[in-house]
Amino acid sequence: MKLSNYFLPVLKETPADAEIISHKFMLRAGMISQSSSGIYSWLPLGLRVLKKIENIVREEQNAAGVNEILMPTIQPADIWKESGRYDDYGKEMLRINDRQDREMLYGPTNEEQVADIFRRSIKSYKELPSLLYHIQWKFRDELRPRFGVMRGREFLMKDAYSFDLDEDTSRVSYNKFFVCYLKTFERLGLRAIPIAAETGPIGGDMSHEFVIISETGESDIFYDKRILDLLDVDQELDYTKDLRSIVSSYQALYAAADDKYSKDEFEKKVPIEFQNNSKGIEVGHIFNFSTKYSEPMKANVLNSNGKAVSVHMGSYGIGISRLVGAIIEASHDENGIIWPEAVAPFTVGLVNLKSRDTEAIAVCENIYNTLNQAGIEVLYDDKDDSPGAKFSRMDLIGLPKQIIFGNNSLKDQMIEIKDRKTSHTEKVKISDLAGKLITSK
Ligand code: ATP
Ligand code: MG
Repeated sequence: MKLSNYFLPVLKETPADAEIISHKFMLRAGMISQSSSGIYSWLPLGLRVLKKIENIVREEQNAAGVNEILMPTIQPADIWKESGRYDDYGKEMLRINDRQDREMLYGPTNEEQVADIFRRSIKSYKELPSLLYHIQWKFRDELRPRFGVMRGREFLMKDAYSFDLDEDTSRVSYNKFFVCYLKTFERLGLRAIPIAAETGPIGGDMSHEFVIISETGESDIFYDKRILDLLDVDQELDYTKDLRSIVSSYQALYAAADDKYSKDEFEKKVPIEFQNNSKGIEVGHIFNFSTKYSEPMKANVLNSNGKAVSVHMGSYGIGISRLVGAIIEASHDENGIIWPEAVAPFTVGLVNLKSRDTEAIAVCENIYNTLNQAGIEVLYDDKDDSPGAKFSRMDLIGLPKQIIFGNNSLKDQMIEIKDRKTSHTEKVKISDLAGKLITSK
């Protein structure tokens, strides 16, 4: 992509209404544009990141054997009346009447919708487990939308649902998602801690929030620091194996948010040198709610005795749009964003500091084409701006590698590669560049 042809409305000034760093940088880097409170348009740079995250999440769901579907954003109120949640959900739900005056709503989540699909389609225990997911926009009329995409009203979520015959088998599904989430967040370059979460009247231990440590987080978490050492997951995971031991190794170490935290238990279970308390951002939540929705909605199957039983359901969310902000919170410096390679909008920024020199332009065009052909995603700054403006823009948008074609590059046929994260620079021969970047990929 050439910058001269790219819609990248970078702002010099920090917008006054942005409170936290990720929101500031997302606005300044031209990633999003606010439509109304908590509702955003995604501009090219932001959309590329959103899609990268979405794809990693999708690949990992697929690897775990979850089936992708796509449910609508607009749902009929009837199914929510059946589950008993229509009134409970309150003002967070955006309610709409269609022209026939039927009650509809913009989905804040999809348990009812997916239970309705399930009960129409699956009749026998032999077809279980059923694992379904979709990646779809949600709407929640949050009381206080803030922090940009972190707490929006319209936001993109991956939500998955499991259907099993009984508690034991639903635990197998739960463990699959638990492990799949560990892998997913690791691929995104994040260290997300699974913490025990509230299960309410359902009880049990099958509810975890995945939280990344950050000062700007809204959750207050207490955890055993040794849990961080567990976070390097084997990426060659076999989902057909029993995953209990992996999940138990996390559950054995204390980690809870303030709503579940008990001072006594924390101090008793965690040696003082490993006790930690910090703010965190919730990026995912997995929850087994047993037959809470299947019972009222009559999502039944026939068991091996031919008896109709309510299926055990679980739901598993990842905040895809929130992750864009969360990743920035976890990875930036005073000059801008530092994208982890896996989600970077482009891998390389090619900066031509001699953008009026026809010879330099020809060489840069050549480099640009070579990198593209090698499958390296490159944003080529071919604009006629000052070196200072070019450097600060590149730092702000945070591409992992900058390639700088400078004043001496024509003469010595050398070009500089700068690592955005470490600021380490290295000079390489222009002819060696593509090879060099491919091997470091
Ligand atoms: P929170 O406590 O932050 O409001 P939640 O418990 O309501 O989250 P879930 O219903 O479990 O969230 O939704 C699954 C995931 O969707 C969350 O882990 C979070 O990453 C994301 N999410 C929830 N609400 C929002 C929002 N308003 N804006 C952006 N992402 C959100
Ligand atoms: Mg919420």
